[in-house]
Amino acid sequence: MMSGTPWVTSHGGAVIPHVEVDTVYYGQGWNQPASGRIILNTGAGIIGQLDQYFATLTQSSYMSMLGEYGVGQGHFGKDDIVTNSASPASGATVSEGEVQNMLQTEIANNRLPTPNGSQVYMVFLPPGVHSQFDLDNGFLAHHNSFQMQVFSGYRYVQSTAGMYLIAVPYYRTQTVTYAVMPYPGGGNPVGTSLTALTPFQQLTEEASHELSEAVTNPDEAVLQIAFPNGTPNPFYLYFTTNPGSGWYDDTTGNEIGDIANQYYGTFDGYIVQREWSNFYKANILPTVDSSYFGSSPYLYAGVNQNFTGSLNGHTLLVSVGPAGIYTEWQIGANDYSGWMFPPSTLTSYR
Ligand SMILES: [Zn+2]
Repeated sequence: MMSGTPWVTSHGGAVIPHVEVDTVYYGQGWNQPASGRIILNTGAGIIGQLDQYFATLTQSSYMSMLGEYGVGQGHFGKDDIVTNSASPASGATVSEGEVQNMLQTEIANNRLPTPNGSQVYMVFLPPGVHSQFDLDNGFLAHHNSFQMQVFSGYRYVQSTAGMYLIAVPYYRTQTVTYAVMPYPGGGNPVGTSLTALTPFQQLTEEASHELSEAVTNPDEAVLQIAFPNGTPNPFYLYFTTNPGSGWYDDTTGNEIGDIANQYYGTFDGYIVQREWSNFYKANILPTVDSSYFGSSPYLYAGVNQNFTGSLNGHTLLVSVGPAGIYTEWQIGANDYSGWMFPPSTLTSYR
């Protein structure tokens, strides 16, 4: 690569190929009827609108657009509205530790799904609540991770007398991937290129940035304890940033959303951010909305050809090149788009 050209590489870690987005509305300000807490309620209320946004986005070609990084479509899980007296009141500033403690509590009490490596918990702060980490770094929002012990079943061991089987719970260490989304304005920064957008549009723009990064670099983490010289020594203990083991640019540290930061467009009726594509060497969005295909039957196309077909009255072009295939097509109720690598491994696709 020419110097200065953005280029992300994998650092050997796993991505989240089929994400489950769970939303968390954290703060007393969400305890308003006008917030619309009903899941997938498309009526009034920003909570219902945000849940609907993730239900749409995760099952759209916006996710399969990330196919070159090993990511495809996922789904929306559930929401969790945390408005108890311990949650931040208007004017409060939450620390990263408070967010992580809250997530651990909600998971331990089964108000959020137990993480298995597929979840990204999208934490939304209500108007007037601030994120210390974002204020410190001048960020609009961020994604992060931490590790927790999660219950992983029972092992049965024999009692010393050999007469009884004793159930012993055991736990595994699980990485928890999440993002924090402060409500823009009211003391929280507004993106310099986003000022023309409504707060809801700013949130969907920023959420697409963080979600795309979280699935392609799920274990990026800050506030990690590091030991210089590799030796645990309390006198040299400090906090550092773990850039993660997924996709980012070694020269700049930028992830796919950072390179495309605040370049946005409209997709499926929502304002979303473009994301960096190594393949196109550009910040990209899907070329057509999900509704373009409607509900439609299978479309078949061969490899090593450009295919033009007709589906639901739409003409489709499937482009096959030496570096990959780009197409958009329909399987069952879902539409898919993106790149398939490498084309030589495919005999047919549909
Ligand atoms: Zn970013």
